[in-house]
Amino acid sequence: MKAVRMVKAGEPLAVQEIPIPAIGEKDILVRVRAAGICHSDAHYRAGRSTMGMLPITLGHEVAGLVEKTGASVTNVKVGDRVALHYNISCGDCYQCSTGNDQFCSNVKMIGHHVDGGYAEYLAVPARNAIPLPNEIPFEAGATLMCASATSLHALRKARLKAGETVAIFGVGGLGLSAIQLAKALGAVEVFAVDIKDEKLELAAEYGAIPVNGSRVDAVDEIRRLTKGKGVDVGIEMIGLHNTMQQTVLSLGVMGRAVIVGISQIPLEVNPYQTLIGYEAEIIGSNDHLLSELPLLIDMARRKILDTSHVVSQTVPLDADKINKRLDDLENYTNDIRAVIVP
Ligand SMILES: [Zn+2]
Ligand SMILES: [Zn+2]
Repeated sequence: MKAVRMVKAGEPLAVQEIPIPAIGEKDILVRVRAAGICHSDAHYRAGRSTMGMLPITLGHEVAGLVEKTGASVTNVKVGDRVALHYNISCGDCYQCSTGNDQFCSNVKMIGHHVDGGYAEYLAVPARNAIPLPNEIPFEAGATLMCASATSLHALRKARLKAGETVAIFGVGGLGLSAIQLAKALGAVEVFAVDIKDEKLELAAEYGAIPVNGSRVDAVDEIRRLTKGKGVDVGIEMIGLHNTMQQTVLSLGVMGRAVIVGISQIPLEVNPYQTLIGYEAEIIGSNDHLLSELPLLIDMARRKILDTSHVVSQTVPLDADKINKRLDDLENYTNDIRAVIVP
């Protein structure tokens, strides 16, 4: 079969002919129908993350059709439409047994530690397959497995309750999902902070109150719009030091700031004024759980989560075209969300 693979860190991906993977008795073989090209893939190609092996087929946002099932597989059958959870956890270690499978001590991520979806087929454990209803196109199903899932997890970490207010910093793929999911979970007001007007316009279409951080001080504006109270939940999805501080400073009494964007710069807080004075919390959110994906897919099926704006381009399983999209992501030249359709 054809696969577009990372052969060496820092070099363009290359097309290779490799055998169709063999499956074990608990595995399925999936014929890839859509594989998202994610910003993480640009990091991997550049060599900024340790890969499980080389060469490796990238692609962790995958949806497709079950082509073959192992002898003991019962949850899916040949021909089923499925989307794949990208973390292959063992199910048996302490973290898996206590409901935190994203911290599995034996975790392997598809397209990072084992071969992923930039290929005609891939093999995964059957428990990683989530049935994908006909209403959700494969392209949308694939991208739901990354940014939207991480947004849902962040909102769950925030313990968002009906009637609360939310500020979301960063209106990319994560932020747009978070706006819709926050409303679905009962948020009465969602503020969307970004510096790009076109992103804020889309945020407003989904019912958010736009705050352009390049024109106003986001914290002052959120305080003004909430009559001084601040928000119950702030979610940082950019990974910038400044917006992390703003997220924390936007909180009201009992507020929870959830940090999703990645940064290694220390975050300073005034313990008395910022935390103790409000009984505020700062919460880290890492990835998402297998158990959250069926709910997410159901929300997309019911159009509570609109996926029609997510994918802006499809590309064939072609190394040059995929490398070009990864170059764009690397250089931030455009925000096109591309999906490979083999
Ligand atoms: Zn991704
Ligand atoms: Zn485990």
